[in-house]
Amino acid sequence: MLPDASSRNPLAMLLIKPDRIKLVLESQGYTASDQLLAAMGSRLQKLIRQAHSPLAEAQVFRFEGAAFGVLVPNARDHEVLADLGHHLKLGMQQPLKVLDREHLFTLSIGSAMAPEHGRDTETLFKNAEVVVNRVRTEGGNAFRLFNAEMGEKREQAILLERALGQAIERKELALHYQPQVDLRQNRIAGVEVLLRWNSAEHGMIPPGRFIPLAEEAGLIVSIGQWVLHHACLQAKQWEDANLSPITLAVNISARQMQHPDFVAMVDQVLRETGLNPARLELEITESVAMQDVEHTISTLNSLRRLGVNIAIDDFGTGFSSLSYLQRFPLDKIKVDQSFVRNITQDATIALSVILLARSLQLRVIAEGVETLEQVDALRSYGCEEMQGFFFGRPMPAGEFEHRLQQVKQLVA
Ligand code: C2E
Ligand code: MG
Ligand code: MG
Repeated sequence: MLPDASSRNPLAMLLIKPDRIKLVLESQGYTASDQLLAAMGSRLQKLIRQAHSPLAEAQVFRFEGAAFGVLVPNARDHEVLADLGHHLKLGMQQPLKVLDREHLFTLSIGSAMAPEHGRDTETLFKNAEVVVNRVRTEGGNAFRLFNAEMGEKREQAILLERALGQAIERKELALHYQPQVDLRQNRIAGVEVLLRWNSAEHGMIPPGRFIPLAEEAGLIVSIGQWVLHHACLQAKQWEDANLSPITLAVNISARQMQHPDFVAMVDQVLRETGLNPARLELEITESVAMQDVEHTISTLNSLRRLGVNIAIDDFGTGFSSLSYLQRFPLDKIKVDQSFVRNITQDATIALSVILLARSLQLRVIAEGVETLEQVDALRSYGCEEMQGFFFGRPMPAGEFEHRLQQVKQLVA
Protein backbone atom coordinates (compact mmCIF):
# COMPACT_ATOMS: atom_id res chain seq x y z
CA MET A 1 0.00 0.00 0.00
CA LEU A 2 1.50 3.37 -1.00
CA PRO A 3 1.62 6.10 1.67
CA ASP A 4 -0.97 8.82 1.33
CA ALA A 5 0.52 12.04 -0.03
CA SER A 6 -2.16 14.11 1.67
CA SER A 7 -0.85 13.15 5.10
CA ARG A 8 1.00 15.73 7.18
CA ASN A 9 4.48 14.54 6.24
CA PRO A 10 5.75 15.90 2.93
CA LEU A 11 6.14 13.13 0.41
CA ALA A 12 8.13 12.96 -2.80
CA MET A 13 8.36 10.45 -5.60
CA LEU A 14 11.38 9.66 -7.73
CA LEU A 15 10.79 7.74 -10.90
CA ILE A 16 13.87 6.01 -12.29
CA LYS A 17 14.30 4.60 -15.76
CA PRO A 18 17.67 3.06 -16.64
CA ASP A 19 18.80 4.38 -20.05
CA ARG A 20 18.72 1.99 -23.03
CA ILE A 21 17.48 -0.77 -20.74
CA LYS A 22 15.06 -2.10 -23.36
CA LEU A 23 17.86 -2.85 -25.80
CA VAL A 24 19.86 -4.65 -23.11
CA LEU A 25 16.93 -6.72 -21.88
CA GLU A 26 16.04 -7.74 -25.42
CA SER A 27 19.49 -9.18 -25.89
CA GLN A 28 19.16 -11.25 -22.68
CA GLY A 29 17.20 -14.35 -21.82
CA TYR A 30 14.21 -14.11 -19.50
CA THR A 31 16.16 -15.29 -16.42
CA ALA A 32 19.06 -12.92 -16.99
CA SER A 33 16.67 -9.99 -17.54
CA ASP A 34 14.82 -10.77 -14.36
CA GLN A 35 18.02 -11.10 -12.36
CA LEU A 36 19.37 -7.89 -13.82
CA LEU A 37 16.28 -5.94 -12.77
CA ALA A 38 16.35 -7.54 -9.33
CA ALA A 39 20.05 -6.63 -8.95
CA MET A 40 19.26 -3.10 -9.97
CA GLY A 41 16.45 -2.89 -7.39
CA SER A 42 18.77 -4.18 -4.63
CA ARG A 43 21.48 -1.71 -5.63
CA LEU A 44 18.97 1.16 -5.37
CA GLN A 45 17.77 -0.12 -2.00
CA LYS A 46 21.33 -0.32 -0.73
CA LEU A 47 22.16 3.16 -1.96
CA ILE A 48 19.11 4.52 -0.21
CA ARG A 49 20.04 2.88 3.08
CA GLN A 50 23.43 4.58 2.82
CA ALA A 51 21.79 8.00 2.42
CA HIS A 52 21.37 10.37 5.34
CA SER A 53 18.19 10.35 7.40
CA PRO A 54 15.34 11.02 6.55
CA LEU A 55 16.10 9.76 3.04
CA ALA A 56 17.13 6.38 4.39
CA GLU A 57 13.45 5.74 5.13
CA ALA A 58 12.57 5.90 1.43
CA GLN A 59 11.05 2.81 -0.15
CA VAL A 60 11.88 1.38 -3.57
CA PHE A 61 9.20 -0.13 -5.83
CA ARG A 62 9.68 -1.88 -9.12
CA PHE A 63 7.18 -0.98 -11.82
CA GLU A 64 6.34 -2.87 -14.94
CA GLY A 65 8.50 -2.05 -17.95
CA ALA A 66 11.85 -1.75 -16.14
CA ALA A 67 11.11 1.38 -14.10
CA PHE A 68 11.67 1.95 -10.39
CA GLY A 69 9.85 4.28 -8.05
CA VAL A 70 11.24 5.68 -4.83
CA LEU A 71 8.81 7.11 -2.31
CA VAL A 72 10.46 9.54 0.05
CA PRO A 73 8.50 10.43 3.18
CA ASN A 74 9.59 13.58 4.99
CA ALA A 75 11.18 15.12 1.90
CA ARG A 76 11.79 18.62 3.19
CA ASP A 77 12.96 20.48 0.11
CA HIS A 78 14.11 20.22 -3.46
CA GLU A 79 17.82 20.18 -2.61
CA VAL A 80 17.40 17.05 -0.51
CA LEU A 81 15.71 15.32 -3.42
CA ALA A 82 18.32 16.46 -5.91
CA ASP A 83 21.02 15.12 -3.54
CA LEU A 84 19.28 11.76 -3.43
CA GLY A 85 18.91 11.71 -7.22
CA HIS A 86 22.62 12.39 -7.72
CA HIS A 87 23.57 9.87 -5.05
CA LEU A 88 21.59 7.18 -6.94
CA LYS A 89 23.01 8.21 -10.30
CA LEU A 90 26.57 8.03 -9.00
CA GLY A 91 25.97 4.78 -7.17
CA MET A 92 24.79 3.15 -10.37
CA GLN A 93 28.08 3.96 -12.09
CA GLN A 94 29.63 0.79 -10.68
CA PRO A 95 28.96 -2.20 -12.98
CA LEU A 96 26.20 -4.65 -12.06
CA LYS A 97 27.30 -8.27 -12.28
CA VAL A 98 24.65 -10.76 -13.38
CA LEU A 99 25.37 -14.33 -14.50
CA ASP A 100 29.05 -13.55 -14.99
CA ARG A 101 28.37 -10.54 -17.17
CA GLU A 102 28.97 -6.95 -16.17
CA HIS A 103 26.43 -4.29 -17.08
CA LEU A 104 26.85 -0.55 -16.92
CA PHE A 105 23.84 1.71 -16.77
CA THR A 106 23.13 5.39 -16.54
CA LEU A 107 19.84 6.53 -15.01
CA SER A 108 17.16 8.99 -16.02
CA ILE A 109 15.43 10.26 -12.90
CA GLY A 110 12.35 12.45 -12.62
CA SER A 111 10.91 13.63 -9.39
CA ALA A 112 7.75 15.31 -8.06
CA MET A 113 6.98 16.56 -4.59
CA ALA A 114 3.78 16.95 -2.55
CA PRO A 115 1.90 19.11 -2.14
CA GLU A 116 3.11 21.49 -4.89
CA HIS A 117 3.23 18.87 -7.67
CA GLY A 118 0.22 16.84 -6.58
CA ARG A 119 -1.63 15.85 -3.45
CA ASP A 120 -2.02 12.16 -4.14
CA THR A 121 0.50 9.52 -5.11
CA GLU A 122 -1.14 9.02 -8.49
CA THR A 123 -0.64 12.65 -9.51
CA LEU A 124 2.92 12.63 -8.17
CA PHE A 125 3.62 9.49 -10.18
CA LYS A 126 2.11 10.99 -13.34
CA ASN A 127 4.17 14.18 -12.97
CA ALA A 128 7.36 12.28 -12.16
CA GLU A 129 6.75 10.31 -15.34
CA VAL A 130 6.39 13.51 -17.40
CA VAL A 131 9.82 14.59 -16.13
CA VAL A 132 11.58 11.27 -16.56
CA ASN A 133 10.33 10.97 -20.13
CA ARG A 134 11.59 14.47 -20.78
CA VAL A 135 15.00 13.58 -19.33
CA ARG A 136 15.11 10.54 -21.59
CA THR A 137 14.28 12.43 -24.77
CA GLU A 138 17.03 14.90 -23.87
CA GLY A 139 19.61 12.13 -23.81
CA GLY A 140 19.13 10.57 -20.34
CA ASN A 141 21.66 10.30 -17.51
CA ALA A 142 20.21 13.20 -15.51
CA PHE A 143 18.00 14.09 -12.56
CA ARG A 144 15.24 16.66 -12.86
CA LEU A 145 12.45 17.92 -10.69
CA PHE A 146 8.97 18.54 -12.05
CA ASN A 147 7.94 22.16 -12.53
CA ALA A 148 4.72 23.95 -13.36
CA GLU A 149 5.85 24.74 -16.90
CA MET A 150 6.23 21.05 -17.65
CA GLY A 151 2.72 20.55 -16.30
CA GLU A 152 1.39 23.24 -18.65
CA LYS A 153 3.21 21.71 -21.61
CA ARG A 154 1.66 18.36 -20.71
CA GLU A 155 -1.79 19.99 -20.53
CA GLN A 156 -1.23 21.57 -23.96
CA ALA A 157 -0.10 18.22 -25.32
CA ILE A 158 -3.28 16.61 -24.00
CA LEU A 159 -5.40 19.25 -25.75
CA LEU A 160 -3.47 18.78 -29.00
CA GLU A 161 -3.77 15.01 -28.71
CA ARG A 162 -7.54 15.32 -28.36
CA ALA A 163 -7.76 17.53 -31.48
CA LEU A 164 -5.42 15.20 -33.38
CA GLY A 165 -7.74 12.29 -32.64
CA GLN A 166 -10.39 14.06 -34.75
CA ALA A 167 -8.09 15.40 -37.46
CA ILE A 168 -8.88 12.70 -40.01
CA GLU A 169 -12.66 12.96 -39.81
CA ARG A 170 -12.47 16.76 -39.74
CA LYS A 171 -10.36 16.59 -42.91
CA GLU A 172 -7.55 18.63 -41.33
CA LEU A 173 -4.71 16.46 -42.62
CA ALA A 174 -3.03 17.06 -45.97
CA LEU A 175 -0.09 15.61 -47.80
CA HIS A 176 2.74 17.63 -49.26
CA TYR A 177 5.25 16.29 -51.76
CA GLN A 178 8.94 17.10 -51.99
CA PRO A 179 10.93 16.17 -55.10
CA GLN A 180 13.94 13.86 -54.93
CA VAL A 181 16.26 14.32 -57.88
CA ASP A 182 18.76 12.07 -59.59
CA LEU A 183 21.42 14.25 -61.17
CA ARG A 184 22.87 11.39 -63.22
CA GLN A 185 19.58 11.30 -65.11
CA ASN A 186 18.88 14.99 -64.57
CA ARG A 187 15.32 14.29 -63.50
CA ILE A 188 12.91 13.96 -60.60
CA ALA A 189 13.28 10.31 -59.62
CA GLY A 190 11.19 10.27 -56.48
CA VAL A 191 9.03 12.18 -54.07
CA GLU A 192 8.80 12.20 -50.28
CA VAL A 193 5.37 12.54 -48.73
CA LEU A 194 5.27 14.90 -45.75
CA LEU A 195 2.20 15.14 -43.58
CA ARG A 196 0.65 18.52 -42.71
CA TRP A 197 -1.91 19.21 -39.98
CA ASN A 198 -3.92 22.40 -40.08
CA SER A 199 -6.00 22.24 -36.90
CA ALA A 200 -9.18 24.32 -36.73
CA GLU A 201 -8.46 25.02 -33.04
CA HIS A 202 -4.67 25.22 -32.92
CA GLY A 203 -3.63 26.34 -36.41
CA MET A 204 -0.78 24.85 -38.40
CA ILE A 205 1.20 22.37 -36.28
CA PRO A 206 4.54 21.06 -37.61
CA PRO A 207 5.00 17.27 -37.88
CA GLY A 208 8.01 17.43 -35.54
CA ARG A 209 5.47 18.37 -32.87
CA PHE A 210 2.42 16.27 -33.67
CA ILE A 211 4.01 13.02 -34.88
CA PRO A 212 5.55 12.29 -31.44
CA LEU A 213 2.16 13.05 -29.86
CA ALA A 214 0.42 10.74 -32.31
CA GLU A 215 2.97 8.07 -31.39
CA GLU A 216 2.42 8.48 -27.68
CA ALA A 217 -1.36 8.44 -27.99
CA GLY A 218 -1.34 5.45 -30.34
CA LEU A 219 -3.01 7.57 -33.06
CA ILE A 220 -0.09 7.07 -35.45
CA VAL A 221 -1.40 3.69 -36.56
CA SER A 222 -4.61 5.11 -38.06
CA ILE A 223 -2.95 8.33 -39.21
CA GLY A 224 -0.09 6.38 -40.81
CA GLN A 225 -2.57 4.19 -42.65
CA TRP A 226 -4.40 7.28 -43.89
CA VAL A 227 -1.11 8.77 -45.15
CA LEU A 228 -0.05 5.58 -46.91
CA HIS A 229 -3.43 5.07 -48.54
CA HIS A 230 -3.78 8.63 -49.85
CA ALA A 231 -0.16 8.86 -50.97
CA CYS A 232 -0.37 5.56 -52.87
CA LEU A 233 -3.64 6.64 -54.51
CA GLN A 234 -1.98 9.87 -55.63
CA ALA A 235 1.12 8.09 -56.95
CA LYS A 236 -1.09 5.65 -58.85
CA GLN A 237 -2.90 8.57 -60.49
CA TRP A 238 0.44 10.01 -61.61
CA GLU A 239 1.47 6.60 -62.91
CA ASP A 240 -1.82 6.26 -64.83
CA ALA A 241 -1.39 9.75 -66.28
CA ASN A 242 1.91 8.56 -67.78
CA LEU A 243 3.94 11.14 -65.97
CA SER A 244 7.62 10.44 -65.57
CA PRO A 245 7.94 7.34 -63.31
CA ILE A 246 8.90 8.16 -59.75
CA THR A 247 9.36 6.41 -56.40
CA LEU A 248 7.01 7.39 -53.59
CA ALA A 249 8.77 7.65 -50.20
CA VAL A 250 6.57 7.43 -47.09
CA ASN A 251 7.81 7.95 -43.51
CA ILE A 252 7.07 5.20 -41.02
CA SER A 253 7.35 5.64 -37.28
CA ALA A 254 8.25 3.21 -34.48
CA ARG A 255 4.76 2.39 -33.30
CA GLN A 256 3.64 1.62 -36.87
CA MET A 257 6.55 -0.79 -37.42
CA GLN A 258 5.83 -2.56 -34.15
CA HIS A 259 2.16 -3.09 -34.97
CA PRO A 260 1.54 -6.78 -35.65
CA ASP A 261 -0.61 -6.01 -38.71
CA PHE A 262 1.80 -3.51 -40.27
CA VAL A 263 2.94 -5.65 -43.21
CA ALA A 264 -0.63 -6.83 -43.88
CA MET A 265 -1.76 -3.18 -43.86
CA VAL A 266 0.89 -2.19 -46.43
CA ASP A 267 -0.10 -5.16 -48.59
CA GLN A 268 -3.77 -4.22 -48.37
CA VAL A 269 -3.12 -0.57 -49.29
CA LEU A 270 -1.06 -1.64 -52.31
CA ARG A 271 -3.86 -3.93 -53.46
CA GLU A 272 -6.59 -1.34 -52.88
CA THR A 273 -4.77 1.43 -54.70
CA GLY A 274 -3.18 -0.73 -57.39
CA LEU A 275 0.22 0.98 -56.99
CA ASN A 276 3.16 -1.08 -58.18
CA PRO A 277 5.03 -2.08 -54.94
CA ALA A 278 8.36 -1.37 -56.65
CA ARG A 279 7.27 2.29 -56.77
CA LEU A 280 6.89 2.46 -52.97
CA GLU A 281 9.75 3.16 -50.56
CA LEU A 282 9.29 3.14 -46.80
CA GLU A 283 11.56 5.43 -44.76
CA ILE A 284 12.46 4.35 -41.26
CA THR A 285 14.90 6.11 -38.96
CA GLU A 286 17.87 4.38 -37.37
CA SER A 287 16.38 4.62 -33.90
CA VAL A 288 13.18 2.95 -35.11
CA ALA A 289 15.17 0.18 -36.77
CA MET A 290 17.33 -0.38 -33.69
CA GLN A 291 14.48 -0.56 -31.18
CA ASP A 292 13.91 -4.24 -31.67
CA VAL A 293 16.45 -5.51 -34.15
CA GLU A 294 15.14 -9.03 -34.72
CA HIS A 295 11.62 -7.73 -35.26
CA THR A 296 12.95 -5.08 -37.64
CA ILE A 297 14.79 -7.67 -39.72
CA SER A 298 11.78 -9.94 -40.05
CA THR A 299 9.41 -7.02 -40.81
CA LEU A 300 11.78 -5.57 -43.43
CA ASN A 301 12.17 -9.01 -45.03
CA SER A 302 8.38 -9.35 -45.26
CA LEU A 303 8.10 -5.89 -46.80
CA ARG A 304 10.82 -6.77 -49.28
CA ARG A 305 8.86 -9.88 -50.26
CA LEU A 306 5.95 -7.58 -51.12
CA GLY A 307 8.36 -5.81 -53.48
CA VAL A 308 8.61 -2.60 -51.43
CA ASN A 309 11.90 -0.63 -51.05
CA ILE A 310 13.41 0.39 -47.71
CA ALA A 311 15.39 3.54 -46.89
CA ILE A 312 17.08 4.53 -43.64
CA ASP A 313 16.17 8.15 -42.83
CA ASP A 314 18.24 10.73 -40.89
CA PHE A 315 21.24 8.43 -41.11
CA GLY A 316 24.03 9.27 -38.70
CA THR A 317 21.83 10.86 -36.03
CA GLY A 318 20.94 7.69 -34.11
CA PHE A 319 22.88 4.76 -32.83
CA SER A 320 23.31 2.00 -35.29
CA SER A 321 25.60 -0.88 -35.20
CA LEU A 322 27.25 -1.48 -38.53
CA SER A 323 26.82 -5.23 -38.20
CA TYR A 324 23.06 -4.77 -37.92
CA LEU A 325 23.07 -2.41 -40.86
CA GLN A 326 24.48 -5.24 -42.89
CA ARG A 327 21.69 -7.56 -41.75
CA PHE A 328 18.87 -5.14 -42.59
CA PRO A 329 17.57 -5.65 -46.13
CA LEU A 330 17.97 -2.03 -47.26
CA ASP A 331 17.96 -0.19 -50.58
CA LYS A 332 18.95 3.30 -49.64
CA ILE A 333 20.54 5.50 -46.98
CA LYS A 334 19.52 9.13 -46.49
CA VAL A 335 22.36 11.36 -45.29
CA ASP A 336 20.84 13.52 -42.56
CA GLN A 337 20.47 17.22 -43.28
CA SER A 338 22.67 18.18 -40.32
CA PHE A 339 25.68 16.73 -42.16
CA VAL A 340 24.70 18.34 -45.46
CA ARG A 341 24.27 21.76 -43.85
CA ASN A 342 27.97 22.22 -43.13
CA ILE A 343 29.36 20.03 -45.88
CA THR A 344 31.30 22.87 -47.46
CA GLN A 345 33.25 23.42 -44.18
CA ASP A 346 33.42 19.89 -42.85
CA ALA A 347 32.46 16.94 -45.01
CA THR A 348 33.80 14.19 -42.75
CA ILE A 349 30.53 12.56 -41.77
CA ALA A 350 28.68 13.12 -45.05
CA LEU A 351 31.58 11.58 -46.94
CA SER A 352 31.81 8.62 -44.53
CA VAL A 353 28.10 7.91 -44.96
CA ILE A 354 28.41 8.09 -48.74
CA LEU A 355 31.37 5.68 -48.69
CA LEU A 356 29.61 3.37 -46.25
CA ALA A 357 26.53 3.23 -48.50
CA ARG A 358 28.70 2.46 -51.48
CA SER A 359 30.56 -0.35 -49.74
CA LEU A 360 27.26 -1.88 -48.64
CA GLN A 361 26.03 -1.49 -52.22
CA LEU A 362 23.19 0.78 -51.19
CA ARG A 363 21.91 3.89 -52.92
CA VAL A 364 22.53 7.15 -51.11
CA ILE A 365 20.54 10.37 -51.11
CA ALA A 366 21.38 13.64 -49.35
CA GLU A 367 18.60 15.47 -47.49
CA GLY A 368 18.26 19.19 -46.78
CA VAL A 369 20.24 20.39 -49.80
CA GLU A 370 19.78 24.16 -49.93
CA THR A 371 22.65 25.65 -51.96
CA LEU A 372 24.54 25.10 -55.20
CA GLU A 373 27.77 24.79 -53.17
CA GLN A 374 26.26 21.83 -51.31
CA VAL A 375 25.15 20.28 -54.62
CA ASP A 376 28.66 20.60 -56.03
CA ALA A 377 30.28 19.21 -52.88
CA LEU A 378 27.94 16.21 -52.81
CA ARG A 379 28.54 15.48 -56.48
CA SER A 380 32.28 15.61 -55.98
CA TYR A 381 31.89 12.97 -53.25
CA GLY A 382 29.88 10.74 -55.54
CA CYS A 383 26.37 11.41 -54.21
CA GLU A 384 24.09 12.16 -57.13
CA GLU A 385 20.67 11.81 -55.51
CA MET A 386 19.43 14.79 -53.53
CA GLN A 387 16.44 16.34 -51.86
CA GLY A 388 16.06 19.80 -50.38
CA PHE A 389 14.81 23.35 -50.76
CA PHE A 390 17.33 23.93 -53.57
CA PHE A 391 15.27 21.59 -55.78
CA GLY A 392 11.87 22.30 -54.25
CA ARG A 393 10.08 22.65 -50.92
CA PRO A 394 7.36 20.21 -49.91
CA MET A 395 4.35 21.31 -52.01
CA PRO A 396 0.71 20.37 -52.58
CA ALA A 397 0.00 17.55 -55.05
CA GLY A 398 -1.16 19.87 -57.87
CA GLU A 399 2.02 21.88 -57.77
CA PHE A 400 4.20 18.79 -57.72
CA GLU A 401 2.29 17.36 -60.68
CA HIS A 402 2.98 20.57 -62.58
CA ARG A 403 6.71 20.14 -61.81
CA LEU A 404 6.58 16.59 -63.13
CA GLN A 405 5.02 17.76 -66.37
CA GLN A 406 7.73 20.30 -66.98
CA VAL A 407 10.81 18.91 -68.65
CA LYS A 408 13.55 21.14 -67.45
CA GLN A 409 17.17 21.16 -66.47
CA LEU A 410 17.58 20.77 -62.72
CA VAL A 411 21.05 22.18 -62.45
CA ALA A 412 22.72 24.25 -65.11
P1 C2E B 1 12.10 13.70 -42.49
O1 C2E B 1 11.42 12.46 -42.97
O2 C2E B 1 13.56 13.64 -42.30
O3 C2E B 1 11.70 14.81 -43.55
C1 C2E B 1 12.53 15.84 -43.98
C2 C2E B 1 12.22 17.13 -43.28
O4 C2E B 1 13.13 18.12 -43.70
C3 C2E B 1 10.84 17.68 -43.63
O5 C2E B 1 10.37 18.40 -42.48
C4 C2E B 1 11.16 18.65 -44.76
O6 C2E B 1 10.20 19.66 -44.94
C5 C2E B 1 12.46 19.21 -44.29
N1 C2E B 1 13.31 19.68 -45.38
C6 C2E B 1 13.35 19.23 -46.66
N2 C2E B 1 14.28 19.89 -47.37
C7 C2E B 1 14.86 20.77 -46.53
C8 C2E B 1 15.90 21.74 -46.68
O7 C2E B 1 16.50 21.93 -47.73
N3 C2E B 1 16.23 22.46 -45.57
C9 C2E B 1 15.60 22.29 -44.38
N4 C2E B 1 15.98 23.05 -43.37
N5 C2E B 1 14.61 21.38 -44.21
C10 C2E B 1 14.26 20.63 -45.27
P2 C2E B 1 8.87 18.26 -42.00
O8 C2E B 1 7.94 18.20 -43.16
O9 C2E B 1 8.67 19.32 -40.97
O10 C2E B 1 8.86 16.84 -41.32
C11 C2E B 1 9.60 16.58 -40.17
C12 C2E B 1 9.61 15.13 -39.84
O11 C2E B 1 8.31 14.68 -39.48
C13 C2E B 1 10.04 14.22 -41.00
O12 C2E B 1 11.44 14.22 -41.11
C14 C2E B 1 9.46 12.91 -40.55
O13 C2E B 1 10.32 12.29 -39.62
C15 C2E B 1 8.21 13.33 -39.84
N6 C2E B 1 7.05 13.11 -40.72
C16 C2E B 1 6.54 13.91 -41.68
N7 C2E B 1 5.48 13.33 -42.29
C17 C2E B 1 5.33 12.11 -41.70
C18 C2E B 1 4.41 11.01 -41.87
O14 C2E B 1 3.54 11.00 -42.75
N8 C2E B 1 4.56 9.93 -41.05
C19 C2E B 1 5.55 9.87 -40.10
N9 C2E B 1 5.63 8.78 -39.32
N10 C2E B 1 6.43 10.88 -39.92
C20 C2E B 1 6.33 11.98 -40.71
MG1 MG C 1 11.81 11.13 -44.27
MG1 MG D 1 15.16 12.85 -42.74
